[in-house]
Amino acid sequence: MTRSITVLGATGSIGDSTLDLIRRNRDDWRVEVLTANGNTDKLAALAREFGAALAVCGDEGCLPALRAALAGSGIVAAGGEQALVEAAMRPVDMTVAAIVGCAGLAPVMAAAERGGTIALANKEALVAAGDVLMAAARQGGATLLPTDSEHNAIFQCLAGNRIEHVRSITLTASGGPLRTWSMEQLAAATPAQAVAHPNWDMGAKISVDSATMFNKGLELIEAWHLFPVGLDKLKIVVHPQSVIHSMVEYRDGSTLAQLGPSDMRVPIASCLAWPERMDTPCTPLDLAALGQLTFEAPDEQRFPATRLSRQAAEAGGAMPAVLNAANEVAVAAFLAGHLSFTRIAVIVEETMARYAPSAPAALAEVLAVDREARAQAQGLLETA
Ligand code: NDP
Repeated sequence: MTRSITVLGATGSIGDSTLDLIRRNRDDWRVEVLTANGNTDKLAALAREFGAALAVCGDEGCLPALRAALAGSGIVAAGGEQALVEAAMRPVDMTVAAIVGCAGLAPVMAAAERGGTIALANKEALVAAGDVLMAAARQGGATLLPTDSEHNAIFQCLAGNRIEHVRSITLTASGGPLRTWSMEQLAAATPAQAVAHPNWDMGAKISVDSATMFNKGLELIEAWHLFPVGLDKLKIVVHPQSVIHSMVEYRDGSTLAQLGPSDMRVPIASCLAWPERMDTPCTPLDLAALGQLTFEAPDEQRFPATRLSRQAAEAGGAMPAVLNAANEVAVAAFLAGHLSFTRIAVIVEETMARYAPSAPAALAEVLAVDREARAQAQGLLETA
């Protein structure tokens, strides 16, 4: 049976992996919408290849270029933030949410309110708007399938079990490319060094998050919303080989783990095929060749991000949105060469210190917090 699909963030790393799987199973899917921000050449090429009904660029200024690139194809072009939201509202069987950052929040909310099935990679949306997004999904009758490899692993380990029987959930972290660096070395880390992940090939923002461990901090908050076991039952362990993607420990002492190659096509395939399974072209794990799997405790002195993220979750309300916004601003400044690596966490902590917890009850309130926290973080960058 052919199913319809929308890929939000089709031109990125998750978009590439998703469309690779669709390309291998063309008869199973009808592509409704593909979106990007400003990469109109790639978006138009993908829209033509997959015969999408609609292609949308988030950056409205790029719409003339998108229109020109799609001329004669019969594919409708649209641009701007509202066009992304309207695109996400179109009825489809599956929405892959893979825009990077809080920019993906409004379209994800629109998809959640509409209902249907959402493969959620865009963790920043859930971090910024956790309660609001989960409530929208409940009210809209949407099914959120966790696509982040850790949360997908936990989802798989929970299948067939009762959440009340969970003693703890352990998120594994690779530790990133700078895991063994001293504080002095970290202070001098360049963007090229920070994005050179040893195991995963990902977009620039999540690669920096992986190096700072903010990725794991964001994932802690993401897990807190997706799997209602309480923050005290969520743990993090560093596992440099990225073979075990996460684990669930039950009250009887059994720990279930999900293992797989470090290739996002595995968790994406798990979402696309859910509740069935599908083939992927990924190289199977060879445990004998790997030899050993190792584990270590996170070092929150050198990598304070997981401590800050736990604090943000404990404070609740708008604080995770503040943490996320400040981190997005700081990562962009780091990538642009305007901020040192170790200052990313400092900017986040100082921005958080300027907020008293409040509880946003609707999307507009979350977006207002996001805007304000970005302005605060930007101000801190300029006065630093
Ligand atoms: P990329 O940077 O590779 O791609 C981001 C996508 O979002 C692109 O299509 C980009 O369009 C689009 N985009 C960027 N800014 C905007 C905007 N303001 N409005 C609309 N669209 C925008 O990111 P990744 O694919 O690496 O990550 C996507 C999400 O998935 C992130 O939330 C990340 O944390 C999560 N994730 C990623 C993993 C990975 O392996 N990559 C693993 C687990 C989670 P354009 O190309 O035009 O700029």
